[in-house]
Amino acid sequence: MVLGAGFGGLELTSRLAAEFGSDLELTLIDRADGFIFGFSKLDVMFGRVTADAVTHAYAQIVKPGVRFVQADITAIDPVARHVSTTAGEFDADILVVALGADLHPEATPGLVEAGHEFYTVAGAFALREVLANFAGGRVVVAVTATPFKCPPAPSETALLMHDLLADRGLLDVSSVTLCMPMPVPIPPSPQASEALLAEFARRGIEFLGPRLVRGLDGDRKVALVTDGDEIPYDLFLGVPVHRAPQVAVDAGLTVDGWIAVNPLTLETQFDGVYAVGDVTSVGTPKAGVFSEGQAVIAARRIAARLRGESSAAEYDGHGLCYLEFGHNAVAQVDVTFRAGQAPFGSMIGPSPELAADKVEFGASRVDRWFGS
Ligand SMILES: Cc1cc2nc3c(=O)[nH]c(=O)nc-3n(C[C@H](O)[C@H](O)[C@H](O)COP(=O)(O)OP(=O)(O)OC[C@H]3O[C@@H](n4cnc5c(N)ncnc54)[C@H](O)[C@@H]3O)c2cc1C
Repeated sequence: MVLGAGFGGLELTSRLAAEFGSDLELTLIDRADGFIFGFSKLDVMFGRVTADAVTHAYAQIVKPGVRFVQADITAIDPVARHVSTTAGEFDADILVVALGADLHPEATPGLVEAGHEFYTVAGAFALREVLANFAGGRVVVAVTATPFKCPPAPSETALLMHDLLADRGLLDVSSVTLCMPMPVPIPPSPQASEALLAEFARRGIEFLGPRLVRGLDGDRKVALVTDGDEIPYDLFLGVPVHRAPQVAVDAGLTVDGWIAVNPLTLETQFDGVYAVGDVTSVGTPKAGVFSEGQAVIAARRIAARLRGESSAAEYDGHGLCYLEFGHNAVAQVDVTFRAGQAPFGSMIGPSPELAADKVEFGASRVDRWFGS
């Protein structure tokens, strides 16, 4: 049984389906009716595509041996491997928790009332109209807490916002400020950080780090920064607080807020229970490519276990991320996070060819996850 049909849950499901075909008896549970890539939120928000075009309905999954159940997961018993949902009770031989990170805009004072967030589907999609009607002014893109998904996304948002203002002739009456909790945009890749900082400087985007925005004062239109500073804004685009879903916390699976796993095998402390992706504290950033990489290893280990064999497959912390530079140019950042070593990475691009690669990256996942 796989809980959560996001990047990790879908990759794991498709790997096991490819391995076992109709011999598999896999139940995949998610409250949503379809999958949306994280990067599609930016595409919708900046008016590049419509919301309908980026939703991949789970009803379209065609894999013998896989059953999708749309339901809210309300309780997990990791000892009995029993799961309660709004669609009934389920028991499993092997349980995989891939529930991602929940987002809490309400946890930042003033964010809901006086600002916007672009990380939830609802928040990003609602911004499409807000941005289309924006008449220019001081734009602040900021992170409100750590950890947060897809560390490059705020930098991408600042650049795409700058594109939007330029395309609409609003740069003369506008400014863009990016406030991040790190000293540079992407610490594991100095090359990517340097390229981003150079692009920010070229465009006049102000980069403020390491700082978090702890709240908004809507009356005075200022963002309240951790160091006591204030940043005036007309349009605030925030990254909300992330937490593990409460159902995982209540199940006793979390340690210090996230599910503790063996970082090499993705096993939890409970026999037959694995966890992958953003819901874990595996040591990689919270991003789809890492959830996917973890799912590959968990799938290999589960397949071996189901066959009564053992597997030496170990997670290597490696991921290839795409980074939007605006004006249809995308870079590719190659990063590796391994326990006991400083993270390291390199970058190629940005270029229009890599923008096409990114489209292919998404299309190949849709084929693999939804096709037979
Ligand atoms: C703006 C933005 C841009 C991004 N860009 C990129 C990018 O370019 N590349 C990249 O790799 N990553 C990107 N990401 C990050 C990426 O979207 C996530 O890290 C990734 O989806 C995590 O995968 P996951 O499987 O761990 O969790 P998720 O994909 O979040 O899946 C978790 C699933 O669990 C379900 N769920 C949770 N709780 C329950 C419950 N109680 N009952 C039932 N279902 C439940 C949810 O509905 C969800 O479908 C971006 C994120 C954002 C916000």
